[in-house]
Amino acid sequence: MSIHTLPSLEAAVRRDLVLIGYPTGDWVPSRTHKGQPVLDVLIAGGGQGGIAIAANLMRERVANILIVDESSAGKEGIWRRFARMKTLRTAKNVSGPDLGIPNLTFQAWYEAQFGAGAFEALGKIDKGDWQDYLGWVSRMLGLPIRNNTRFAGVAPEGDLLAATLVEDGVERTVYTRKLVLAMGIETSGKWWMPKEVEALPIQMRAHTADDIDFAALAGRKIAVIGAGASAFDNAAAALEAGAAHVTLLCRRPEVQSVQPYKIIAHPGFLGHFGALPDAERWRIASHLLTIREAFPKETWDRATRHVNFEILTGAGVTGAREENGQAIITTPRGDVHADFVIAGTGFDIDLMCRPELAQVAEHVTTWGDAFQPPAEQQNSRMSKFPYLDPHMAFLPKGDGAEWIRNIYCFNFGSTASFGPAGSSISAMKFAAPRVASGIVRDLFAADIDAHADILMNYDTPEFDGVFARDRK
Ligand SMILES: Cc1cc2nc3c(=O)[nH]c(=O)nc-3n(C[C@H](O)[C@H](O)[C@H](O)COP(=O)(O)OP(=O)(O)OC[C@H]3O[C@@H](n4cnc5c(N)ncnc54)[C@H](O)[C@@H]3O)c2cc1C
Repeated sequence: MSIHTLPSLEAAVRRDLVLIGYPTGDWVPSRTHKGQPVLDVLIAGGGQGGIAIAANLMRERVANILIVDESSAGKEGIWRRFARMKTLRTAKNVSGPDLGIPNLTFQAWYEAQFGAGAFEALGKIDKGDWQDYLGWVSRMLGLPIRNNTRFAGVAPEGDLLAATLVEDGVERTVYTRKLVLAMGIETSGKWWMPKEVEALPIQMRAHTADDIDFAALAGRKIAVIGAGASAFDNAAAALEAGAAHVTLLCRRPEVQSVQPYKIIAHPGFLGHFGALPDAERWRIASHLLTIREAFPKETWDRATRHVNFEILTGAGVTGAREENGQAIITTPRGDVHADFVIAGTGFDIDLMCRPELAQVAEHVTTWGDAFQPPAEQQNSRMSKFPYLDPHMAFLPKGDGAEWIRNIYCFNFGSTASFGPAGSSISAMKFAAPRVASGIVRDLFAADIDAHADILMNYDTPEFDGVFARDRK
């Protein structure tokens, strides 16, 4: 088997794209509004999720789309920001934004640069390589991304959406028929930490999703709250930066060592969870929300190899205060003193707290609105998740906000409705086509009069009617 060089792989990808007709000619009638061209789809967020949705739309020849990302080019996503592990937690043979085209997979890209042996020898994918690969996919597919542009809000405008974008401090409105929210795993809420920890002086605490100056932690005592993968990665990053001591506070009696998300990464769960009856979805998703994300051995080893690392189990935070320039965290296992506190406490689902969704959140049907669980399965966290339609769009609560059906929730907010869907590499090849097909269906149905007219008036002959035998 011969392996491509990068230039020959790129030539092969270009040919593959021709072979699948990608994208030859947009079929959606164009529109203008207030003298401006109307987008068919605006995608907020140009990480792997935004890229995967855009790729699937382009494949369906819906090319009048725009991805906006507030980061600069090459800095989209989390991989060069606060993802502090060395490698992805996902297995190396995962496929995501490649549209099922073998030459567009991570393996093809990696082998073209480093050789087949290098891929074989690879344990897991380096997170920087994954970021570079996503950039390459985006370039190969010609995805229209506008960097340094923040999506700041959306409101109805007739049958369109008026989205506010801020680019280099300048605000403008763009009109779009559909909007996809792919602004990160926390898009349906916000990063969260216990309120007592949040009340500590800002120079004394951070969330794992914040920028943290790890070099400044050298020689200092650190407390990390939480025992999930990110908590361990941040503990390891602090230890590697020379922290004097790191105490990790785990609320449970022991650190979770199984990876339940791994066992459900199959086409049944990833592809069809969303079609189950509500009662089944509630029961299983409620359980999913109580378990932690994947926590590989590499992460455990990276932190626990340090002699100055300690895990305190059964140590849920009951309070926090500042005393003489130190943070004191109170737990059932006693007080923990630290110079700096890192909260690896994840995020909370609450659409109401997103400024970008200020005009949307109150109209969204949540699971709490849509489903009444049996008494023994009450779960206030589940209740706050949006209850999504079969293509991951919001559903309006009551009458009058039909416009929110045009907004798609491609982030962790989709977990209650679809299980692992938005915000997971393994789920991407199932979830992105689901959103794209819903959008394509709606665009077609909404324009059916125009399409019918085109059909009725279509009069381009395939041949001139002259008998072939008479042709000169
Ligand atoms: C620390 C960490 C590690 C993870 N590791 C794995 C893993 O190994 N395997 C796995 O399957 N999953 C993992 N996940 C889950 C998931 O794959 C990631 O969260 C992934 O980054 C989700 O991709 P995304 O495109 O939805 O969001 P992101 O990658 O977060 O991208 C969102 C983009 O939106 C942009 N943005 C945000 N707000 C705005 C705005 N208002 N306007 C414009 N742009 C905006 C951001 O700049 C960013 O580029 C991890 C999650 C975390 C938090």
